[in-house]
Amino acid sequence: MPAPGTISYRKMKVKHHIIVSLSGGVIIWLITQSFFKAILFSFAGIFIDVDHLFDYVRNWGWKIMPLRNFFNIFYTLKLKKIYVLLHGYELLAMLGLLLWYLKVDWGWVVFLSLAIHLLMDQIYCFTHFRRNSPWFYFLTYRISKGFESERFLKIKF
Ligand SMILES: [Zn+2]
Repeated sequence: MPAPGTISYRKMKVKHHIIVSLSGGVIIWLITQSFFKAILFSFAGIFIDVDHLFDYVRNWGWKIMPLRNFFNIFYTLKLKKIYVLLHGYELLAMLGLLLWYLKVDWGWVVFLSLAIHLLMDQIYCFTHFRRNSPWFYFLTYRISKGFESERFLKIKF
């Protein structure tokens, strides 16, 4: 396994989300026989990470950099502020309540996919960062820290 801090090591996280989301989509399809639900599951688990784009632009502007470096900066302390605004257990809980209230049949698929994604991120952060708060994936926690990465992340070396 590559040492923490190397590019290939960091890319594994993205790869894992894709593998889990796609294979989870297949399982959902096998269980429900619904292609729509399978696609929803796969898309939700991968595209929640689109919020990294916001962080990137906030910190770096619209400067274009190679894709390799794009992923690179998220797992180092090169971002002064980490927002990841779609990553939050509170948001997940609110989504769950909304879906339960609206009784949206396909909603649980999105909820499940996002929950798995967040748990994977949580586990990743615990194993690869030291002094990382267990509360990191609560949006309110990050707000309380002013989204400043140095106040909640330190990379293990
Ligand atoms: Zn994520």
